Amino acid sequence: MNAAPRVTLPGTKFHRVRKTVQSICVTIFILLPLFDVMRVDLIRQRFYFFGAELWISEFSIIFLTMMFLWIFIAAMAMIYGRFYCGYLCPQMIFSEAANTIEKRVAKLVNRNFSGLSSNARKVIAHAALYAILLPASIFFSFVFVSFFIPPADLFHRLLSFDIRTAGGIVGASVTLVTFLDFAFLRQTFCTAICPYGYLQNMLADKHTLQVFFQDESGGCIHCEKCVRACPMGIDIRKSSHQLECTHCAECIDACSSVLGRMGRQTLIHYAWGDSGRGATAEHKWYRRIGFRDGKRIAILGLLTVYATGLAIVINLRQPVLVRIMPNRITLYTLGADGLVHNTFRMVASNRGKQDARVTLSVADLASARVAGDPNGIVLKPGDELQREFDLTASAASIAPGVNHLRILVHVAPGAKDQSLAETFIAPMDTEPSTPPALKAIKNK
Ligand code: SF4
Ligand code: SF4
Repeated sequence: MNAAPRVTLPGTKFHRVRKTVQSICVTIFILLPLFDVMRVDLIRQRFYFFGAELWISEFSIIFLTMMFLWIFIAAMAMIYGRFYCGYLCPQMIFSEAANTIEKRVAKLVNRNFSGLSSNARKVIAHAALYAILLPASIFFSFVFVSFFIPPADLFHRLLSFDIRTAGGIVGASVTLVTFLDFAFLRQTFCTAICPYGYLQNMLADKHTLQVFFQDESGGCIHCEKCVRACPMGIDIRKSSHQLECTHCAECIDACSSVLGRMGRQTLIHYAWGDSGRGATAEHKWYRRIGFRDGKRIAILGLLTVYATGLAIVINLRQPVLVRIMPNRITLYTLGADGLVHNTFRMVASNRGKQDARVTLSVADLASARVAGDPNGIVLKPGDELQREFDLTASAASIAPGVNHLRILVHVAPGAKDQSLAETFIAPMDTEPSTPPALKAIKNK
């Protein structure tokens, strides 16, 4: 078999790239809940998405968001393999950070307590490590739980050492699990527990990006540097399809630094599937970035459809939602004022960030009015209320039986009125001498 053309990768400085990307990810992870960029508030039943406060009842937006994220994750795994694990996953970032801290603490202790026995140094190193990991666990658990409970509320619970309420118990439990994870589990979580790791391996196919070992000419000098550099503790030379491999490329850097000193190229590199080939200039740009077959183009199309749908739905979203329905338990009543009354129920919710005034008026039915306060109601952000109100009309000016009208809902501030088609029921017999009480018709 001919050796596949070797591609000179950009300096094989993947470690530096990875650490930069990971630092950005940690920053984003911390900022997402604090600034309501993405957060599910379980207490208030809200979903925060790039500053918009979505109500759990806004099914279309939640559905489209979930579908978009799910397809995006699947597409990433199909095209770029375990890129997420190697570069973006908080579990991997914190596991590697814990490994680094452990090594540095051990080095420091050995240097400063060289006179003590090895067991004593181990005890000191472990105590120092746990003393660092405990506040780190509290901080990152706080950030994690903030995705589900408002950060200010959580901070208050933390300050008061609340371990009695449900929120406090959840916070304390997450902190304990995080500490045990940082201290003992680390990468074992990725290989033994994480379902996304399995899912990514299932979605990979012959075009998926992977880290590939290729040594047809027997150039490996068996220095084992790639094995020592691997955060997952595996030997890439045994197979390029190991379940534990997160495609982090630390082994590429290791090999290129050893063989590079001898003026040779790395034996390990990124490649698309089993081809053993990376992206080269001879390929079209879309093949170079991973769109190498129809399946990948189709998934990109699907992602575009969901993203467009989501953008349209968010754009059409009205911060104040008003629903009106007639109360047909009583079809109509004749009031002491001689007017025909129909009762309606209004449900109004303010999903915006400022006070909103809702006023109603009637169109398409002469003499019909909204009874009660002409100034309407004021809704604070987050308010949801139900209220009954009457429409009135003079019996002489409307047709007996069913009349059609529109209720106009004006929301201030707001650009456009909502127009809701409704019906108004009038008595068939409109003789004024009939006592009003006898005119009330009840549905039984
Ligand atoms: S084998 Fe290489 S790419 Fe895979 S996890 Fe180990 S260092 Fe990372
Ligand atoms: S770092 Fe390269 S040369 Fe050294 S053992 Fe690994 S593959 Fe072989």
